[in-house]
Amino acid sequence: IRWTEGRGWHDARLQPYAPIPMDPATMALHYGQEIFEGLKAYRQPDGSVAVFRPEANARRFQLSARRLAMPELPVDAFVEAIDLLVRQDVAWVPTRGEQSLYLRPFMFATEVGLGINRPANEYLFMVIASPAGAYFPRGIKPVSVWLSREYVRAAPGGTGEAKCAGNYAAAFLAQAEATRNGCDQVVWLDATERRWVEEMGGMNLYFVHGEGDAARITTPELTGTLLPGITRDSLLTIARDLGHPVDEVRISTDEWRRGNEDGAISEVFACGTAAVITPVGSVKSSDAAWLVADGQPGSVTMRLREELLGIQTGRVEDRHGWMHHIV
Ligand code: PMP
Repeated sequence: IRWTEGRGWHDARLQPYAPIPMDPATMALHYGQEIFEGLKAYRQPDGSVAVFRPEANARRFQLSARRLAMPELPVDAFVEAIDLLVRQDVAWVPTRGEQSLYLRPFMFATEVGLGINRPANEYLFMVIASPAGAYFPRGIKPVSVWLSREYVRAAPGGTGEAKCAGNYAAAFLAQAEATRNGCDQVVWLDATERRWVEEMGGMNLYFVHGEGDAARITTPELTGTLLPGITRDSLLTIARDLGHPVDEVRISTDEWRRGNEDGAISEVFACGTAAVITPVGSVKSSDAAWLVADGQPGSVTMRLREELLGIQTGRVEDRHGWMHHIV
């Protein structure tokens, strides 16, 4: 679907996957007006297909568009585009459990020009799809995380809340630093005091305090500098459904470390569309290293994972009307 100043959205079409020719002066290539989303279609037990919360992704896409001075695509048009593509590619939705068809809607500035004084006046919105295997084909393995003290992902007033290409471009160097230090993933801290835990490279974080059904669950509050994850939002509801007290809080790296040392924090996990829920097993930074409990997946983490994946794959009742049924 194209958008042109003065004309609005036009030319919706479904076409085979193919390269798109681009002028070297296409504005997105120079000034980075690109936003995207990620969501999944799951095969249901009766063979039909359903997409998890596309309206929520559509609304976040509008938030990203506003921040990047791009046109907002109506929620209905976003969901209809997903619907049409999944219908067309339904044979590509895997038939087994946690496998899915990953959907990538995105929009970028297509106007040709080198001026920087105003946003582009032409955009292209597209959706592509790709089958995705189970994230943990050989059993759940907790990730190790690196607290990035040198780099920041997002500053107040910046684009941290938007899902835009530039946020990820700025993250690669920190991810390389994490890898060099033997860790799987980066954990970002706030830009101002550099001690509040924000999120991971592609996932939000959750902390479990205590054991069993009464365990209290917390997650860093949305401060405007972290991405409002759809999985994060869904888990706030699911955890409450399962009877856990849930709070959105500020948590510092010191509290995290002390909590793991004195047992006040019993489990830590990360959540996002790609991995759904991943236990965090160990933490490292330039001046400290510690284990999260015994470094193994915790029971509350695994229970929440079962429940959310159950809803997505149609094995657990969709109590909140989250599944968008395609066929
Ligand atoms: N934070 C970042 C930086 C991300 O890229 C993602 C993945 N979209 C998330 C959090 C998790 O968001 P979601 O649950 O919507 O996938």
